[in-house]
Amino acid sequence: MDKLRVFTAGQIRTMDPGRPTATAVAVSQGRIVSIGSLESMQPWLRRVDHEVDDTYSDRVLVPGLIDPHTHLRMSGTFMGLDYVGPIPCQSPSGLVRGLDDRAAVLARLKDLVTSIDDPTRPVVTWGYDPGSQGGHLDRDMLDQISDTVPIWVLSYAPHIVYTNTPMIKRIGVTDETSAHGLGRYPDGRLNGWFIETGAVGMAVAPVAEYVYRPGFGVEALSRQAAVAVRNGVTTTADMIWGAESFEREWDDHEEVISAGGFPLRVLLVPFHSRLETKYGDGRLDFLRSMKERNTDQLAVHGVKFVNDGSYPSMTLKLNFPGYLDGEEGLTGEVPWEDMVETMWPYWNEGIQIHSHANGDQTIDMTLDTLAELQSRKPRFDHRFTIEHYSISTVAQGRRLAALGGMASVNPYFVHYRSLIHSESGFGPDRAAVTARLGTLEQAGAMFTLHSDYNLVVGPMAPLTAAWVAVNRLAADGETVMAPGERISVDRAMRAITTDAAFVLRRDHDIGSLEVGKLADFAVLGDDPYELDPARLKDIPVVGTVLGGVPHAAND
Ligand SMILES: [Zn+2]
Repeated sequence: MDKLRVFTAGQIRTMDPGRPTATAVAVSQGRIVSIGSLESMQPWLRRVDHEVDDTYSDRVLVPGLIDPHTHLRMSGTFMGLDYVGPIPCQSPSGLVRGLDDRAAVLARLKDLVTSIDDPTRPVVTWGYDPGSQGGHLDRDMLDQISDTVPIWVLSYAPHIVYTNTPMIKRIGVTDETSAHGLGRYPDGRLNGWFIETGAVGMAVAPVAEYVYRPGFGVEALSRQAAVAVRNGVTTTADMIWGAESFEREWDDHEEVISAGGFPLRVLLVPFHSRLETKYGDGRLDFLRSMKERNTDQLAVHGVKFVNDGSYPSMTLKLNFPGYLDGEEGLTGEVPWEDMVETMWPYWNEGIQIHSHANGDQTIDMTLDTLAELQSRKPRFDHRFTIEHYSISTVAQGRRLAALGGMASVNPYFVHYRSLIHSESGFGPDRAAVTARLGTLEQAGAMFTLHSDYNLVVGPMAPLTAAWVAVNRLAADGETVMAPGERISVDRAMRAITTDAAFVLRRDHDIGSLEVGKLADFAVLGDDPYELDPARLKDIPVVGTVLGGVPHAAND
């Protein structure tokens, strides 16, 4: 065995219920050899050459935090475009300020149009948030800004592209085009919206050279990894691998990892619709062939489906009584009646399914599908996961548990969005019960917490996610949204460590600090179990350790 490095700490929260605390952890070859105290590990220390590292002797170590649903490369790419969103946002040139409302956004677009010398060059922007910036944009509104320069605005949650007439022409659709996800005015004329993955992809094509500039993927990943370290994240899953290109995305990850010092483990979860377009009947063979390329730091995992719209852009599917203003939301590309047949090959192959469902109508459909898959071929330990699980009912939580399913939930919406959507979109009842974690806990369903960074107007900060889950404090700093849905600090900490690892089927390797597991830690300035739960989000993150290698948060 290689020389041991023994990290001492003020406190270690192992998340191993059998041995919950420790003060020293011995590491060799990237894995934990022993965890306990300098005394308890003497049988190892007497036999193996070692050094004691006291760097963290007054810090708190917890397992490296896991954000099980992000889009680091894709969102990092958008973050290189001109920004028109509501909150301050990282860009390649630093932090960019937010714009308060739609009028400010339109004024910014006007500035961008007038600053362009070449009239054939489009204005390509991202970050618009109809919920907090005062309603959707549309073609007529954008034609007022310019009816000659093509304007392209991607919503922050990138489920909608808003365009003006010159941009619609460049995309190549007309009022007569019939395709999924084209928005229309009541008279049938295109309104300039391209909604959900298929139509968004269509809208991206003519501006791809601006969105996907050479080298942008690698740059984006490096930038996003620094954000991850600052928030204690050591593992994440990219939940839409293949959105741009399976090869380029894989290669970019391989490039940053092989360069050395990349502080994250990444699971790439292939997007079903792209798998089908790209590989057709050979898609399972492709997934089998990728298995040999998996490493501890980069691996293919499961399959992803997207079956309705987004919470912040108010395009999810709701049961009765629906939206406040009669909106209908949108389904994904796979027709719901084909869902069982479409998921079947993956279910049959034993590939874990991650199925995006935000609204309660979509959750019903997803549970019906899971029930049908179970009756066709009963499976244990399938870990079928509903992604987001934003607006659900008590009955759905119980049925999810009964079917052996799990939920990967975005809790940030409770704090950042629920008051907005009480008035706009979903109404007070649905807004209040956003992210029903208490119900899932009572039902006995496994769940984890994710950020979807950076596609839903919020940070990637698992301790903030835990703080929201424990306190459910709305953005006004006073209102507690559905207090019965709050969970304990321990359950919230599990949801960003060991339970997140379980949902990603990596719990044999990460998520808790046990002998034999990978030596991934988040280094904290305070103990989440000792601190007032109202201050969870304020815990300083000093850095991370990945496979025994420290990464400082200020790097
Ligand atoms: Zn996502």
